[in-house]
Amino acid sequence: MKKMFICGNWKMHTTRAEAVALAQAVEPAAAANAGILEVGVCPPFVYLLPVAEALRASAVSLGAQDMYFEPKGAFTGEVSGPMLVDAGCKYAIIGHSERRHVLGETDGLINRKVAAAHAAGLRPILCVGELLEEREKGATEEVVRRHVTGGLKGLSDAQVRDTVIAYEPVWAIGTGKNATPDQANEVHAFIRGLLRKSCGADTAAAVRIQYGGSVKPENAFELMSRPEVNGALVGGASLKADSFTAIISEAAKACR
Ligand code: PEP
Repeated sequence: MKKMFICGNWKMHTTRAEAVALAQAVEPAAAANAGILEVGVCPPFVYLLPVAEALRASAVSLGAQDMYFEPKGAFTGEVSGPMLVDAGCKYAIIGHSERRHVLGETDGLINRKVAAAHAAGLRPILCVGELLEEREKGATEEVVRRHVTGGLKGLSDAQVRDTVIAYEPVWAIGTGKNATPDQANEVHAFIRGLLRKSCGADTAAAVRIQYGGSVKPENAFELMSRPEVNGALVGGASLKADSFTAIISEAAKACR
């Protein structure tokens, strides 16, 4: 049975001391609910090591916010999958909308990163989702199909099973305006259908599909109660221990 996965994306926030304190403050809620859900945090690269140290032997999984697709070499400024594993990471967020739309990442690049994450022994969290104008012109499914099939291209069924997909409508990220639980569930069901066609029912059922976009304590229970929603990727609300732990508690209630 797959466990719900609540993961914080800290983006380019926190100091080293704040990162360590936040990780430590989240740990008790993760431990208390470890039987029913998984909790993860994705600090900035430079704070992965101190956070890993603070979380040693804890119930909180560590993730990076990106990675490069080559394992090593002359790629100034990049960080590889094997380096992230060495730093204690289990996950790497790949293809976040800020990387797609601010930094210009393409589905081809994202696919290479997803494959490289698996090759390194990391579980990618592949982010997919439409812009507001794409939703308004009825192109949500077309965009999500392109992101999902492009991101997962060439993966084995076992690798797909170990990939987390985060549906993050861009218009809901950092805006305070979340997708309704029905809107999220509908797109998640569409993604599940794509996976069923490409990898079969068992693999499709095993993949965790997170919702991301202005998740907060007030909307977490309703969103996490929808059958196709298997967790959340949380930005802003993961930066405060009280709101992130409240989201963990709401998600745990939704699992019961
Ligand atoms: C995100 O960046 O992945 C995200 C979902 O941000 P927020 O929760 O702040 O909308």
